[in-house]
Amino acid sequence: MSLSFNPDTIPLPVGHFIDGELVSAEGAMEMRRPSDGKSYAACPVAGVDLVDRAVESAKAALKASNWGGVRPRERTKALHAWADLMEAEAQTLARIEALSSTRPVGQLVAGDIAVTAEQIRFFAEFADKEGSELAPTDDASLGMIMSEPYGVVGAITPWNFPISMAGWKLGPALAAGNAVVLKPSEMTPFSALYMAELAVRAGLPSGLINVVLGDGPKTGTALTSHPEIAKVSFTGSTRAGSAIMENVARTGVKPMTLELGGKSPQIVFADADLDKAATAIAGSVTFNAGQACVAGTRLIVEKSVADRLTASILEKIKAMRPGPTWEEATQYSPIISERQRARVDGIVRAAVAAGGECLTGGTFMESRGYFYQPTLITNVRQHNPAIVEEIFGPVLTVQTFETEEEALALSSHPAYGLASGLFTADLSRTIRFARRLEAGTVWVNRYSRSRDHILPTGGYKRSGIGKDLGREAYLANRRTKSVLITL
Ligand code: NAD
Repeated sequence: MSLSFNPDTIPLPVGHFIDGELVSAEGAMEMRRPSDGKSYAACPVAGVDLVDRAVESAKAALKASNWGGVRPRERTKALHAWADLMEAEAQTLARIEALSSTRPVGQLVAGDIAVTAEQIRFFAEFADKEGSELAPTDDASLGMIMSEPYGVVGAITPWNFPISMAGWKLGPALAAGNAVVLKPSEMTPFSALYMAELAVRAGLPSGLINVVLGDGPKTGTALTSHPEIAKVSFTGSTRAGSAIMENVARTGVKPMTLELGGKSPQIVFADADLDKAATAIAGSVTFNAGQACVAGTRLIVEKSVADRLTASILEKIKAMRPGPTWEEATQYSPIISERQRARVDGIVRAAVAAGGECLTGGTFMESRGYFYQPTLITNVRQHNPAIVEEIFGPVLTVQTFETEEEALALSSHPAYGLASGLFTADLSRTIRFARRLEAGTVWVNRYSRSRDHILPTGGYKRSGIGKDLGREAYLANRRTKSVLITL
């Protein structure tokens, strides 16, 4: 059966999800579909009162269900049931998401939703396998490092992969025994409401997941300031991450995980499999139209193969099929909003004004939605805006090098260190680069995550603090207490 659908026929859950129920609310912020620019809904904006209600509901759910204190396997089983239901309802969830976001429906079902369900199962399995430790002490005493949940976690997510980002936050926090108040992005908030509804239908206690809709300054600030929010888990821009740190410092110290922006390099040596490298690089810069934190947007290629590699990338990106997110065959996404598309275009123009040369693209696509042409810019120096700015669009810069030292110097960014890619057949060089690249992730001869979920993700420098995914993400949702007993 085709996954394509008519976006005008899909009912959306508009409101907040508190204590296991949809609380309807007036929309305050107009929303337009990225695929055709049509106004389709308005996003409500929760204030302090509603955030307070959501936090109270989370606290009450923890108390009534004893979620943090039940036999851990009970948490595992409940989370597995939620993941199963998410997969069973994948088509409905995908339609809600594809309607309003940049994610094509086909990629949602095969990718975002399937992977998120699997990640929730991955985290669920930690609940009864990771625990407290005995400390080595003398015979006359017993030392314990007790591991406990925080309580209520406040999570804030961006718009670029709304289901995956919600899953990254909810999976480990719930498995670790916490409740969550989640504020999804005001641009793509509806899939999180449906995920929360599915959790209740799957048997998770009502109130364990609460979703408040709204913007950053009002709703986000109310959430991060709340005295009963024990930990903040944020994914978004470095700018908003700084604002959150400032607000938390002002309103009360609490632990934070911050997954922030990036400007990741992909370094290609002449001995690499160039066809494989071209496929990975073209894929990374066109996937979700470059609107990914880890998008490998800076190609740094050995001079002797630069023309060959660039020609191959050009051929591959031109073959991408754009289309509305509600059509199954769509491969290439629109930009999230008209404003963001204008920003992408502004940086491309500034890059050209600073001496850059567009090999392809460099302007809007002729279509109703907010599409931007995949763009390759060459002749760029380190201070060029296309090298410095996180563009968050389908723009790849091309720089060349002749020595390893030159490649390393070009790959370094003054602010960001999220991910990096290296393509080479030389094992010793791989290790040298893995040691010296200043990034939280180094992908070698590939540019994508595995579906194993065990490798943590997170940034160096201003790309963030702490990790999502992996064992680290589970442990980041528990705190430890030292207990020392004199016998
Ligand atoms: P954004 O920072 O504008 O918004 C992210 C979320 O933060 C939204 O829900 C927003 O409402 C909220 N927010 C904004 N200001 C806030 C404030 N002062 N207090 C509390 N909440 C606030 O980011 P975006 O445009 O939605 O997403 C794109 C950014 O996210 C890019 O920079 C991208 O690199 C980053 N990102 C990082 C990762 C990662 O894993 N490192 C993953 C995805 C996206």
